[in-house]
Amino acid sequence: MNYLLKHIQKIRLSVRLFILAALCIMPFFTWYLSHLPMGDVKAIIDEDYANVQHYIIHMMDGVAHSGFLSDDALEGTSQENQNISDTIAVASGDVWSARLFGIEWLDMLAWAELTVLSKSMVLPLLAGGLSVLLLTICCGRIFCSWICPAGLLFDLCDKIRVKIEASGRRLRDIKFKRWHKYVLLTVGLFIGLIVGLPLLGYFYPPALFLRELHAVVYAFMDNATEEAWFGVTLALSGVSLFLFALLMFETFVSKRFWCRYMCAGGALYSLFGRFRLFRIQRVKAQCTDCGDCNKACPMGLHPMTDALGIECDNCFACHSVCPEEALPIKITQHDVQCESCAA
Ligand code: SF4
Ligand code: SF4
Repeated sequence: MNYLLKHIQKIRLSVRLFILAALCIMPFFTWYLSHLPMGDVKAIIDEDYANVQHYIIHMMDGVAHSGFLSDDALEGTSQENQNISDTIAVASGDVWSARLFGIEWLDMLAWAELTVLSKSMVLPLLAGGLSVLLLTICCGRIFCSWICPAGLLFDLCDKIRVKIEASGRRLRDIKFKRWHKYVLLTVGLFIGLIVGLPLLGYFYPPALFLRELHAVVYAFMDNATEEAWFGVTLALSGVSLFLFALLMFETFVSKRFWCRYMCAGGALYSLFGRFRLFRIQRVKAQCTDCGDCNKACPMGLHPMTDALGIECDNCFACHSVCPEEALPIKITQHDVQCESCAA
């Protein structure tokens, strides 16, 4: 256990890279699964293959037949009455909404928006949201620190900032109010309800990137027409521009701007993460007030003074840098050690 805790940042990075890789492969797999019931995958497989799409389809077919999908799912796929949701039982979707080994996963923001828009608790929504809700209540805002692919990019911005500052150049770090994101969440949900659109999802970096990736993969695999490619390229350019501007802003103007001040999804994870069972709790007797943990916290919190609260995303960066091992990960619902325990 101690070994795992010692290497927790490496483990976290590996988990995030694995998830990113899986998310990049997922659109191809979803395409394959969604085309199985139509029989065109079989038709393509039966042909001699000569282009990249054929190679990709052959690869996915090999994976599917290696036991990843049940025989039932594979055999019944050309039947017209095959229910596609039976087939896509193993893995499909992205961080916005996914299905992994039969369990529905729905991003909290997607859950909130779709529930508000549908004005009811639809069962599939409830199931998808509940799994993520339980995970958040148990482990806190770990979607942000362990899963979100955009968070990986924002971490990269933090590292570039450190490198630039190490070279002697001072960068601006404008601080905004953290409550902005809660206001944005409330206003976004309210306006979305009025206009009937999931507005917040349109500007949600993790969903944005992966939605565009899906569109590109589908256009590529379906040999889309020039007009269709024009639409996909236009949308992709808009999204890339938005993300690039955001990354530049994070690097040169305001550190971790999106996660700290603007992310409506992060706001929801924070609200439910306040009940988290796993959290950092400083052992006052061991702390020498060196301040390393404060410097390491990407969320701009102050573990040194126990000021974590609902914004902590359990990245455990503070735990990893503490030279005195004064920031253990505990199963507790309190950020601050009780006075009698400290004695
Ligand atoms: S307080 Fe520690 S665990 Fe929480 S966000 Fe900051 S560095 Fe991560
Ligand atoms: S890094 Fe550890 S010793 Fe230093 S201030 Fe933070 S908790 Fe205390």
